[in-house]
Amino acid sequence: MFEKEKKQMIEAALKMKEYHLISLTGGNVSMRVAEDKYLVTPSGMYYETMKPEDIVLINGRCEVLEGKRKPSSDASALVYIFEHKKEVGAIVHTHQPYATAIGLNNDKLPACLVTIIDANHADVPVAPWTPSQDVGMGKLCVEYATDANAVIMKNHGVIAFGADLEEALFGVVYLEEAAKTYVLARIMGEVEELPPEEIAKERSGWVNYGQ
Ligand SMILES: [Zn+2]
Repeated sequence: MFEKEKKQMIEAALKMKEYHLISLTGGNVSMRVAEDKYLVTPSGMYYETMKPEDIVLINGRCEVLEGKRKPSSDASALVYIFEHKKEVGAIVHTHQPYATAIGLNNDKLPACLVTIIDANHADVPVAPWTPSQDVGMGKLCVEYATDANAVIMKNHGVIAFGADLEEALFGVVYLEEAAKTYVLARIMGEVEELPPEEIAKERSGWVNYGQ
């Protein structure tokens, strides 16, 4: 079941690797595929050798409905996000270095670049420390996300979500590009924030982008 979606998830994970957002078996990809049914990448597997049948179908109680693998250790947090944000169709989780570095000594990545406004929609908040593999990670994401489609988890990494997998993937790739630029700028000095009305103007223009 859901062969096409499973292939898309593996492709997304490989893209996350290509953009240096994860290493080895880190991070995960998940998708809502039906009422109370979610696809999650398996725990601790290399994405390069992952096959569609390795992706696990679970329900809202994290019970495995299809697949022989153990689901991602973050499955309970991911399901919590899906259940509390009904507009979310896909979630990606990374350990991307620049955005994660910002989370270690800042409370947000301000929407000071068009890529952040367009791909993440707002300031990207930093949620406080919580142990990994715990539902608390999902709770903090829901609480902190506000208008943004991504949350930097302090001492950990990034969780981004979207209506579909492409939106979630754009969320982490552009976030990392922006985070790198922001870190470089901060090394040179202070960074001025954009006024909210300019952020709103840029955001409304984004609807015309693409095919
Ligand atoms: Zn992680």
